[in-house]
Amino acid sequence: MSPDSTPGLVCAHHHLYSALARGMPAPPEAPTTFLGVLEQIWWRLDTALDLQMLEWAAKLGALEALEAGCTAIVDHHESPNAIEGSLSVIADACTEVGVRVVTCYGVTDRHGPDGARRGLAENDRYLAAGGRGMVGVHAAFTCSDETLAAAAELARRHGVGVHIHVAEGPDDAAATRRLEGLSADDWLLIHGVHLPDDHGVRGTIVHNPRSNMNNAVGYARPVRFANPVALGTDGIGADMVAEFQLAFVAGRADDVTFSPDTAWSWLERGWDLVPEARSDRVRWSYSPMEPWHLAYTPTVRAIDVDIDGAAALRDGVATRVDADEIRARAAEQAARLHALL
Ligand SMILES: [Zn+2]
Repeated sequence: MSPDSTPGLVCAHHHLYSALARGMPAPPEAPTTFLGVLEQIWWRLDTALDLQMLEWAAKLGALEALEAGCTAIVDHHESPNAIEGSLSVIADACTEVGVRVVTCYGVTDRHGPDGARRGLAENDRYLAAGGRGMVGVHAAFTCSDETLAAAAELARRHGVGVHIHVAEGPDDAAATRRLEGLSADDWLLIHGVHLPDDHGVRGTIVHNPRSNMNNAVGYARPVRFANPVALGTDGIGADMVAEFQLAFVAGRADDVTFSPDTAWSWLERGWDLVPEARSDRVRWSYSPMEPWHLAYTPTVRAIDVDIDGAAALRDGVATRVDADEIRARAAEQAARLHALL
């Protein structure tokens, strides 16, 4: 591969619906804790989502990923008032843009046992129909032990892992004890900021440095874990070169000996999660695309992207969809969504 090219990058944790969150009205009360951020922002937003909003959010999120050289998204979705069919809406939107997606519905008991049941059923329906996905769980602290066990069992039955937020904030500190016996190596453990070093939960830890800084939850210091580590954005776009750079400076802020090679190895771990992305090709505005160069090159753009052997981006412009139309339609849906908040 030439020095200005890489395989397609992988975002190991995204929330595509959050593409419509930007510019949302300020919450009635400014959150002062991580739980407050969930209650005042994300849980108001996801409750108001319908399938039409979701369709254009996913198209916009997939388009922005493609434009950043990210060809595979591991998505975690919740829309409690539009559950049935939501994963297919996301998958179809990504297929139209040309980006690969591994999605799941984030099961939770926040909306009562019926909400949890419908969330499990949507994961089951999508996976049984052949969808590329996992079984999603919001987080241990919003689920009963019965729901956690049911999600683990459903994932085993479909031969996939569970995709779950773990110990992002102090409110989820009990996650270790509750997940230890259920987890498996194919699970995705998102954040792990408040996990003990030797926590015993199995799976790949996904580090989301920008999101963690944004929510003031602390530094996960992923080098302390025995688990494999990958990189995600937690819904703030899918620019994985930028996320690598943040992973590097966050590591450096903690320890001056932290190497760009370590942050780059986390980015590369995404190819173990979505191996198909290795065969995608991205040509970049910078050469060489190597960790020690990229750590100190703030602006790097994707020029051409081939996915599955066919063009998806040329000279920075999407070839399979009309990018202007997606941005315009997504803006209309964002306005509809914000009016409900
Ligand atoms: Zn997340």
